[in-house]
Amino acid sequence: MEYNIVIGLETHAELNTDTKLFCGCSTSFGSEPNTQTCPICLGLPGVLPVINRKAFDHTLKTALALNCEINDFVNFDRKNYYYPDLPKNYQISQNHFNVGNNGSVDIIVKGEKKRIGINNVHLEEDAGKLVHPEASDAGHSLIDFNRAGVPLVEIVTNPDLRSIDDVQGYMHTLRNILQYINVSDCKMQEGSLRFEASISLCRKGAKVFGNRVEIKNLNSMKAVMKVLAYEISRQKELLDKGAQIVMETRLWDEVDGVSRRMRTKEEAHDYRYFPEPDLVPILVDKKSIDRIRETIPELSAMRRQRFTSEYLISDYEAGILTESKPLADYFEECVKLTIVSPKELSNWIINDVLRVLNEKKSHIQDFTISPKMLVDLIEMKSEIGGSIAKEVFSEMSNTGKDASSIVREKNLTPLSNAEELNFIISKIIEDNPKAIEDYGKGKKSALSFLVGQTMKITKGKANPKILIDIFREKLENNL
Ligand code: ADP
Ligand code: MG
Ligand code: ZN
Repeated sequence: MEYNIVIGLETHAELNTDTKLFCGCSTSFGSEPNTQTCPICLGLPGVLPVINRKAFDHTLKTALALNCEINDFVNFDRKNYYYPDLPKNYQISQNHFNVGNNGSVDIIVKGEKKRIGINNVHLEEDAGKLVHPEASDAGHSLIDFNRAGVPLVEIVTNPDLRSIDDVQGYMHTLRNILQYINVSDCKMQEGSLRFEASISLCRKGAKVFGNRVEIKNLNSMKAVMKVLAYEISRQKELLDKGAQIVMETRLWDEVDGVSRRMRTKEEAHDYRYFPEPDLVPILVDKKSIDRIRETIPELSAMRRQRFTSEYLISDYEAGILTESKPLADYFEECVKLTIVSPKELSNWIINDVLRVLNEKKSHIQDFTISPKMLVDLIEMKSEIGGSIAKEVFSEMSNTGKDASSIVREKNLTPLSNAEELNFIISKIIEDNPKAIEDYGKGKKSALSFLVGQTMKITKGKANPKILIDIFREKLENNL
């Protein structure tokens, strides 16, 4: 039977604030367990939460970047559940009065634009982290509360995604936007970006969606795509047999490559949401919205378009350059510093800079070669020649020295000394009578052979353009 696939995604991104959502504890990653805690984030009795302004502003910024309608009345709700990583036994989240609703994200899938609806954007606190020892007979688990109370923005789509390609496009676009607006580092290996996927299948042509299954705790885009592929075939098989899909929550088992039931709808949690009495509502006025809107930079889709029209580079190149904001900034910084064509700068960045960063597993923000240094090198190219320029580039990336010091130190200055060059060229002419004869007969390729010989002897230090001129002059005069 043929089915339509319906998917909705809930994304949690840790906001890059210095301190937690309701207390002054640090949010930095990788510290000793339970060293970043206080009575508030440990949920001790008698404490009161105080909202982190920056976390709220970041959520507002996210909602605006995702084209949401911003609610002028925003409130927090308690979501009650008992779990060992949640010390208060409730999570402060938002249910009724989210920061934003009815937004959208445009994604490109197989060259076609698709609009994905955003149901809501809201702010909540993260839970702690349970660590289960590998040995099954350990008899205990460990808990680290450093993450408890770290601010999360949650972004919920409408059930608008129709394929795994859609999901991949959406996740990439969303991550790109969050990084561009600088609200989250989106480091998946540190758990800064996590997903929950809902998926259902319905017969082609059916008027209502099928029962959905929700898969929780997906820590990488790869896991999302794998579990969805698995679920599609699992649900298809069941439906083909005439069976029903039960509404349930499942977990992805990475090791066995299967999803497993966690709980059914009957066992579903009743969160008993109610308004958080310890926090006052937030009234969002137009001035605050405008203030935050002003901090949103041009996003990558727009920037990509502008790069192609303003700098006359291909859409493909513009796509690579705008993949990350720091890289796009680096490119534009270079453009500003020189009259070298943007196309040539783009070639250098895509072919050389990105190759080195890839090899070093490093980021453009930490790159040893600043835009000014790169531009200086490229401007020297006509003088030192392409192959020396590449050599200097790799030396620069290793040492952080600028191009002119390297050229000086390694004695890479081109042979511009006319006397020396003349001497070498006369010698080459003497040693290659056959080529000279060929040239005289009109065989122009003899000239490149001679230039090649000279480059060999000078170890690439002669400027080929000048060489061609000198050879021409000498040979024409001899004829
Ligand atoms: P709940 O409040 O129970 O969490 P929501 O309405 O918030 O349910 O939906 C959660 C997620 O499930 C959303 O991303 C939504 O797009 C998605 N979703 C809703 N209905 C379906 C469906 N029939 N098939 C697949 N996904 C769905
Ligand atoms: Mg939900
Ligand atoms: Zn704290």
